[in-house]
Amino acid sequence: MAILMDGKALAAEKMAELKKRAQALHDAGRPAGLSVILVGDDPASQVYVRNKGKACEELGIYSQTLRLPENTTQEELESCIETLNRDDRVHGILVQLPLPGHLNEAAALARIRPEKDVDGFHVENAGLLFTGQEGVVACTPKGILYMLKKTGVPLSGREAVVIGRSNIVGKPVGMLLLNENCTVTFCHSRTADLSSHTRRADILVAAVGKPRFVTADMVKPGAAVIDVGINRVDGKVVGDVDFEQVEKVAGYISPVPGGVGRMTICMLMENTLEAAERKAK
Ligand code: NDP
Repeated sequence: MAILMDGKALAAEKMAELKKRAQALHDAGRPAGLSVILVGDDPASQVYVRNKGKACEELGIYSQTLRLPENTTQEELESCIETLNRDDRVHGILVQLPLPGHLNEAAALARIRPEKDVDGFHVENAGLLFTGQEGVVACTPKGILYMLKKTGVPLSGREAVVIGRSNIVGKPVGMLLLNENCTVTFCHSRTADLSSHTRRADILVAAVGKPRFVTADMVKPGAAVIDVGINRVDGKVVGDVDFEQVEKVAGYISPVPGGVGRMTICMLMENTLEAAERKAK
């Protein structure tokens, strides 16, 4: 039976550390601040934004959610970002994705000042990660690496396979694992014979967005399996991994819910505090 990579427990421990850092900034008269921009009323986005607000509250980070109507123009959105770029109380700016279809996501993200880009999606931060330099690392990939390291999963020299090549999860998590000296394979919807790749993986990351997509026969015995997926099936949240079967084969496994999602919020808080700490120096 696999060892559970318990996001809830790891997050609780990390939040306690972050609380001290938030308090230190507060005591120095430089409290950290996060602004979230939410355009439209996508129900899943509303939940994510609420959870981010709750985490800020728990740590004593000043937070503000700017709710813009569905029919917001690109110009209005970018002007809102500009205002936050100039606001000294705001250390982190997050544009909740996905944006309504008529808006240009890449152009909006490019307007965020890279040092305030706590999601790590700005091309400057993506480029810093790609070139192995220090920058703001995207929260979900950062949380995955944190989980692996905290659980003591060996990385250097190991085979890592990432299913998914999105800019927000697949690619950055692969780069982080490469920087940890894993041998990394990216798989995607055009990959031929997916199982032949996944069965070689010592570390298998599933970021596909398809419920219970990774089955036990796709997993190498003893592998660390990280489930990033958030899928709603019959009103329940399930991951991209068939947890019940895969936990019998894997060495380590992260559950959904209570896994990567928890770490993502923690890392957003850490990125916001780091931005505020940099500014305070
Ligand atoms: P995307 O839809 O952007 O990417 C999905 C990836 O899966 C694509 O690269 C796609 O390939 C690949 N894929 C789709 N079908 C297959 C297939 N049959 N075989 C192999 N690969 C396939 O999703 P995201 O990266 O944004 O998110 C992935 C999942 O993670 C979602 O469930 C999302 O909700 C969740 N998520 C969870 C977070 C958390 O905090 N826990 C944070 C962010 C996302 P191709 O590129 O060829 O289309």
